[in-house]
Amino acid sequence: MLSPPPTRPDSNCLPFGPARSIIPAVRILTPHRRSLRFPIPVRAFPTREQANMSEDAALVVGSPPSPAGALKRPVFCPPGPSASCSAIWVSGSTLLMSDAAAAQAAVDLHQRLMASGHERPEGDACPICFDLIGLPMHEHAKRNVCCMKRVCNGCALAAYRRGMYNSCPFCRTNLPTDEASELAMIQKRVDKGDAVAIYFLGNQYYYGMLGLARDVPRAIELWREAAELGSINSHHHLGHIHYNGDGIEEDKPRGIHHWQQAAMKGDVLSRHMLGAVENIDGNYQLAVQHWMISAKMGDEGSLNEIKEMFKKGHATKAQYGEALLGYRDATEEVKSPQREEAKRLGV
Ligand SMILES: [Zn+2]
Ligand SMILES: [Zn+2]
Repeated sequence: MLSPPPTRPDSNCLPFGPARSIIPAVRILTPHRRSLRFPIPVRAFPTREQANMSEDAALVVGSPPSPAGALKRPVFCPPGPSASCSAIWVSGSTLLMSDAAAAQAAVDLHQRLMASGHERPEGDACPICFDLIGLPMHEHAKRNVCCMKRVCNGCALAAYRRGMYNSCPFCRTNLPTDEASELAMIQKRVDKGDAVAIYFLGNQYYYGMLGLARDVPRAIELWREAAELGSINSHHHLGHIHYNGDGIEEDKPRGIHHWQQAAMKGDVLSRHMLGAVENIDGNYQLAVQHWMISAKMGDEGSLNEIKEMFKKGHATKAQYGEALLGYRDATEEVKSPQREEAKRLGV
């Protein structure tokens, strides 16, 4: 159940928005792990007692709708006739707010989610040629633990031809020759607070690599730390483990929350997963909207999903055509003669 409302007033309480009769379709996730769906009538509750009966406007939002840092702990509406509160779960905090305000926050989140993250993040580009790396990135680039930079295969080939056989094409550090020294290099950067290295170490624990025993709780701990430091990939992984209950209690809203965070920063795979979630729920229009974004960023899986939606009558021919063109443009953008040659030579 929701946390009981305290009596302490708090200035961090969100102002109540106007009651709305109809809210545009948007996913609402309650702290009770139920998924609700608008449009539903949203009422303003005149009393706290009535408000406490209405938990349906509670939702998971991606970022605090009130000033940053204000949601580190539960905050509550002041008592009184205007305290028409239900609960909103924000990044682990409980915030009481009115149904109308909660619904408005959900609409705001939906708008932010659909309007942002249409460009791939800076970290998806090669640090040498500055071109975005093709998807899936592990097939087109290699990350070196010396600097944690992901260098594209084209630049790796060019470096090899210049005689850099055993050193990083970016920072020129000699590459580790065994797992222990590789782990030591990662740890060195972890100790300096490098978000990418912390994320990468989390992966090693998750898969039990580099001589480490598989340790999912440790991986989660590291991914959370990296996510706090801005690691988009960590949000993506946290999305999967929470959504699927992998090594941790299943918590689909929390998983979706992490995918939303990553998708709004341009993570293609997380955007794809949001489309998949909507598809599972039968919200085909929303699914197509998400997949349209990721297909235009070069995700073949999303393009194929839109094709399937078109076959089933859930997407129009125009939408499929738009996705095809967008996908084609995105894949052309990541090509270069150097990369094509690397591909031909099997680099
Ligand atoms: Zn490159
Ligand atoms: Zn390096």
